[in-house]
Amino acid sequence: MTSGRILDRLDAMEKVEGSLPRLLEFYRKLIQIQTRVGRELNKPNPGLSAEAIHQRTAEGKALITASNFTYDLRLLQGTFRETAALFGEYADLFNSTSEEFSKLAETDLTPDSIEAWYNGEPLPYSGEVNQTLLKELIHAAIKPFLVSYTSVLIDSVEQERWRRGHCPICGGNPDFSFLEKENGARWLLCSRCDTEWLFQRLKCPYCDNTDQQTLSYYTSDEGMYRLYVCDNCKHYLKAIDLRNPGANALIPLERLLTLEIDAQARDYGYSPCE
Ligand SMILES: [Zn+2]
Ligand SMILES: [Zn+2]
Repeated sequence: MTSGRILDRLDAMEKVEGSLPRLLEFYRKLIQIQTRVGRELNKPNPGLSAEAIHQRTAEGKALITASNFTYDLRLLQGTFRETAALFGEYADLFNSTSEEFSKLAETDLTPDSIEAWYNGEPLPYSGEVNQTLLKELIHAAIKPFLVSYTSVLIDSVEQERWRRGHCPICGGNPDFSFLEKENGARWLLCSRCDTEWLFQRLKCPYCDNTDQQTLSYYTSDEGMYRLYVCDNCKHYLKAIDLRNPGANALIPLERLLTLEIDAQARDYGYSPCE
């Protein structure tokens, strides 16, 4: 399991360095919560026949949407409170305060709010709620629930036929990518559920731009990383090139080990796709 390997890697890094940077310390605790909750979940049954999966793939529809995503609201609410407390301990990483997270932790999640989150719509809470942080908290709490669907459905994804800019399982946007070791094919990583899917090498997943005049990439000094940028939508996507002998294949962890590339992208005038 990837999360187990990530935890091992973080422990090894801590041994070598003496301590972990705060961000990685936070991340390790978050993965521990998500892994534990993941173990408590029953295997979901999405009720999709092979024919339905084939049909959805042809139509570019993700396999799980807000309408067939089922979850235990009580467990989700409990996970949400626990992650909010963790975020509160590391509030400085999010330019916030522990008080703000304590307030957010009291939010009552409802089927409506989960549906709005799922669809990327404004959350149905009025007042001075910080929507960005609340979405981030829901994301952290809901992840093990989404991942349980991924583990059931990943083998049914028709990779060669999908090749869309959004996740074939949950419909989320990619926030990282990698070039395959064997043939350099590009795979995207879902920001919500960590599903990996095959995508074109020179196409923007955010706006479907294929005009080579407005697409480019920068390569890091050692050739290990790439920064793909699109001048049509002004979004960027990071990648690790697994053909590089030094590249480590713990892809979800690479998101956090490459924050200097995010800074570089912002300097160049590009933003991440939310
Ligand atoms: Zn996904
Ligand atoms: Zn674009």
